[in-house]
Amino acid sequence: MPETIYDVAIIGSGPAGYTAAIRAGQLGLKTALIEKDAVLGGTCLHVGCIPTKALLFNAEVFDHVKEGAELGLENTAGVTLNWGNIQKRKQGIIDKHAKGLQFLMRKNKVDVVRGYGKLTGPASGGVHTVALEGGEQKSIKAKNVILSSGSVARMLPGMAADEQILTNIEVLSLKDIPKSLIVIGSGAVGVEFASIYKSFGTDVTILEMLPRYVPVEDEEVSKELARVYRKRGINGFVSARVEKVEKTKAGVAVTFTVDGKQQTIEAEKVLIAIGRAPRTENVGIEKTKIKVERGYVEVDGYMRTAEPGIYAIGDIVAGYPQLAHSGAMAGIVAVTHIAGKPVKKINKLRIPGATYCHPEIGSVGLTEAKAKEAGYEVKIGKFPFTANSRASIVGAHEGFIKIVSDAKYGEILGVHIIGPQATELIAEAVTAMELEATVEDLMWTIHAHPTLAEAMLDASNSVYGLAINA
Ligand SMILES: Cc1cc2nc3c(=O)[nH]c(=O)nc-3n(C[C@H](O)[C@H](O)[C@H](O)COP(=O)(O)OP(=O)(O)OC[C@H]3O[C@@H](n4cnc5c(N)ncnc54)[C@H](O)[C@@H]3O)c2cc1C
Repeated sequence: MPETIYDVAIIGSGPAGYTAAIRAGQLGLKTALIEKDAVLGGTCLHVGCIPTKALLFNAEVFDHVKEGAELGLENTAGVTLNWGNIQKRKQGIIDKHAKGLQFLMRKNKVDVVRGYGKLTGPASGGVHTVALEGGEQKSIKAKNVILSSGSVARMLPGMAADEQILTNIEVLSLKDIPKSLIVIGSGAVGVEFASIYKSFGTDVTILEMLPRYVPVEDEEVSKELARVYRKRGINGFVSARVEKVEKTKAGVAVTFTVDGKQQTIEAEKVLIAIGRAPRTENVGIEKTKIKVERGYVEVDGYMRTAEPGIYAIGDIVAGYPQLAHSGAMAGIVAVTHIAGKPVKKINKLRIPGATYCHPEIGSVGLTEAKAKEAGYEVKIGKFPFTANSRASIVGAHEGFIKIVSDAKYGEILGVHIIGPQATELIAEAVTAMELEATVEDLMWTIHAHPTLAEAMLDASNSVYGLAINA
């Protein structure tokens, strides 16, 4: 049998890789998806997006029940959590979707190849060879290769994860709900786990090195999150430099400095949530012309690396947010380009951010500060959820929608939401910006009543001081 030469071989089956594989199959490309693990889906499905959101849903329901009296529910005081069943439900969701991915690969005629894939250098006669370790095959040949090897949690120097020192992996499958938890880092991962475990009754303390929580978000969003977290009883220190993490009999002791003052706090566990490192070592990059900047792969608008025929997508790519949907769209761009079909390059200012803590955060485009830095004359609209009737109905009044617009033409430069369903609501803003709608276009868009989405209508009207409900 002659050796198969694939049109594209994809290394890594996270959301970037599996999306690329499915679309490649749809476009008629002969496709191989290489995965080192026994299951498809990567970080997002197994130890990222999906399990965290499953736990956040448990947390939300539990919070509602705890406040049951307000909703007219009786005898809720004795409600307790069955941690085993919560874990079982979470795993059931993961398993269902992992199976779904296998089905989608079959449906789209993608060959799933088990093994650890490594680049071997430039193409020879237009064909690349990917070396395989740990599987049945020794190598795969393909005209194009897409590297989507993803990322791993960064660790503090000299430390390794164990039962007390946790990354996103261990914290998702704890044997019991910890009595206390220190979270180092207040990016999306840190604030989501802080939110989950606080709802489950853990005493949570966040330590953030920068002067505010969720530092990539608009400053007002950070401020509101800090206010609500204080109200929820989540302790926190910003501008906090962690100096030492030590094991104690009871768990861990973390020493940190704020304003030159050193202090030590103790807890049962510590979660290290200080960012994700790209998995770009030991994949054969050094044998190619691929350019790497601080571990991240540099690409052009079609996700091409500097090595002809090799593309990179997902968390390993320089200059893109490490988010599942960003990697998934990058996968679609790459394979569409390989298939020679018309491609729309990704506009980084239209990639939504979504943080599913309570209250949720959804954002897209420029923050107020970034818009001003870019030289825009900025006009702001802001509408609080306290004035939205659906927010009253669902009992979630925290937060607001903030629209950053250009004063001259009413161009929508950025939308920043903190509050109920913010991660869903942001889709309207992304679509509006993708279609280059102005604030005025939003003002004439009829929104159903009563909905949280109406807050977007009010927020757009508030840019011109015309909000109806506030
Ligand atoms: C706790 C947590 C929560 C998150 N929540 C969200 C969220 O709600 N929304 C969101 O958009 N993003 C979220 N993220 C981020 C999201 O998980 C990542 O952006 C996404 O998984 C990146 O996709 P990827 O395909 O680039 O890589 P990954 O998902 O990391 O997948 C890489 C895959 O490649 C495989 N692999 C690696 N090297 C090789 C090799 N050499 N050969 C074969 N296989 C290999 C790995 O086994 C893995 O399966 C979260 C992350 C974490 C940690």
